[in-house]
Amino acid sequence: MVTSVSDGKLFLLTGPSGVGKGTLIKTLLSRHPEIWLSISATTRQPRDGEIDARHYYFMSRAEFSELASQGGFLEWAEFAGNFYGTPSKEVRERLSSGRPVLLEIELEGARQVRGSFPEALQIFVAPPSFEELERRIRGRATDSEEAIAQRLFRANEELSSQNEFDAIVINDDLQRAIEEIERLIGLVN
Ligand code: 5GP
Repeated sequence: MVTSVSDGKLFLLTGPSGVGKGTLIKTLLSRHPEIWLSISATTRQPRDGEIDARHYYFMSRAEFSELASQGGFLEWAEFAGNFYGTPSKEVRERLSSGRPVLLEIELEGARQVRGSFPEALQIFVAPPSFEELERRIRGRATDSEEAIAQRLFRANEELSSQNEFDAIVINDDLQRAIEEIERLIGLVN
C-alpha cells in the first residue's frame, strides 16, 4: 500500500555521476508529489535544456562564495572543478512545515549532512558495474574529455565509500530500484 512519507523527514541520494539519480528522482517525485526536492546552487555552466532556479541556481564563483561566507549553505563541496551547495533556508522552511525533503548531493556533502542532520536517511545509488557507469558518463556528449576524466576519477572514490551509507540501491532496473527506495523511505508498507 502506498502511504505518505513521514512529515518533516530529510533524506538524501548520493551516487556517482551517470548512475541515473536524475531519472530515479524524477520518477519518485511523480509518484510522490509531497516530496520536496531541494534545488542546489552551482558554479557549473548550464547544460542544454537546464533552467535557472529549476534545475539549479546557476551562480558565479563570487556569488557562491558570498553565500557560503554568510553561512547560507547546509553543505557545499567542490566537484569536478565546480562548486555545488544546498541553500539551507528553503530546506529548513520545508522541514519545519512538515514536508519530506530530498537532497541529491555528492559524497563530501553527504558527509557534512551526517554531522548536521544525523537522523537523515542516506541512500547510495550504485551502478550495476563500473564499465556500465563509464559507458553512461561517456554517452553524455555535453561534457568535455577533462570533465569526463574528473567524473570517472570521482566515481571510483564514491564507489569505494558506499558502505558509509545507511543503504545501497543498485540501479540495474528502474522500477525495482524505485520500489526499493520507496520501501527504505517508508513510502510503501
Ligand atoms: P552535475 O554536474 O552532474 O549536475 O552534478 C555533479 C554532482 O554534484 C552530482 O554527484 C550531484 O549529486 C552533485 N550535487 C548536486 N547538487 C549538489 C549540492 O547541492 N551539494 C553537493 N555536495 N553536491 C551536489
